[in-house]
Amino acid sequence: MSGQGMAWQQVWVELGAAGEPGTACGRADLHVHTSASFDCPARPADIIWNAVQKGLTAVAVTDHDTVAGWGPMEEAARKAEDLGLAHLEIIRGEEVSTRDGHLLALFIEEWIAPHRPLLDTVREVHAQGGVAVVAHPLSPLVSSVRRRLLDELAGDIDGLEVLNPSWGGYAARRTAWQLNRLYWHLAATGGSDAHLARYVGQAVTVYPGATALDLKAALLEAATEAAGAPHPWYAELVTIGSAFSQKSAQRLSAILRAQGRRAARRSRRAWHRMVGGAAAWRLRQGQRPAAAAPDSDSQFILPGRPHRPAEWESRTGGVS
Ligand SMILES: [Zn+2]
Ligand SMILES: [Zn+2]
Repeated sequence: MSGQGMAWQQVWVELGAAGEPGTACGRADLHVHTSASFDCPARPADIIWNAVQKGLTAVAVTDHDTVAGWGPMEEAARKAEDLGLAHLEIIRGEEVSTRDGHLLALFIEEWIAPHRPLLDTVREVHAQGGVAVVAHPLSPLVSSVRRRLLDELAGDIDGLEVLNPSWGGYAARRTAWQLNRLYWHLAATGGSDAHLARYVGQAVTVYPGATALDLKAALLEAATEAAGAPHPWYAELVTIGSAFSQKSAQRLSAILRAQGRRAARRSRRAWHRMVGGAAAWRLRQGQRPAAAAPDSDSQFILPGRPHRPAEWESRTGGVS
């Protein structure tokens, strides 16, 4: 077994084996991205299928700073149930980019705005009756809440994602888990942070009971456990590549749009110059300019023949 595999095996043992398939506990993946996230190609139906296959009881939709994935995921879960597949509960959530790091807002009712301080965001989660879980804590690789702030705010936060199988979450998982056990005593959660449907359930939160309400109660009582295994390196590469390509595609399209606007302006100016040039040539030839663009009438008035309404001409007898 590789060193990395061994380390995860140990984490599994230390956290307890309640998450082993076949036990009576509920198993929820509390950190799942859908195609509503800017960096994620996973379609709701594929996510549901994979979650059902892995025997999960609930999945939290936690897209980056958006709740647009709730509807499609709930719809897909409903369809799966109609087809006679297992009942899977969808937890409405959001991975909020706070100023101090990512926060999983779970069981919320509406969208929570990003880029605010962690404490303000946690209060907003609670105001909506939700549960606030710090995602991939202490990770040096992705925007994550630091130790000092966790020391300070442990009383306000509900849970800590001690098991996040992504490279971002992998780095600091052991430290986070130990500090939580020693000092913070927050509900330990696991979530796959999957950006690809087939890795949903790679890490789970294990809780006594079966329903989403049981899960919420367990989170508030810090009676949960986390279990899982790291994402394979190739899955992480695909995830990073997809985030990169979607970001670069967005950047490229923004550049092209700006270029397009500039080109349109240039061609408009060139057209005006061209039409103006043609009019000037006709004037030099003693011809009346052809009808031109409606917004540039004024430049085609012949010198010495002011453009005046006919009634004005008749009143003055045509005298200029
Ligand atoms: Zn994150
Ligand atoms: Zn995430």
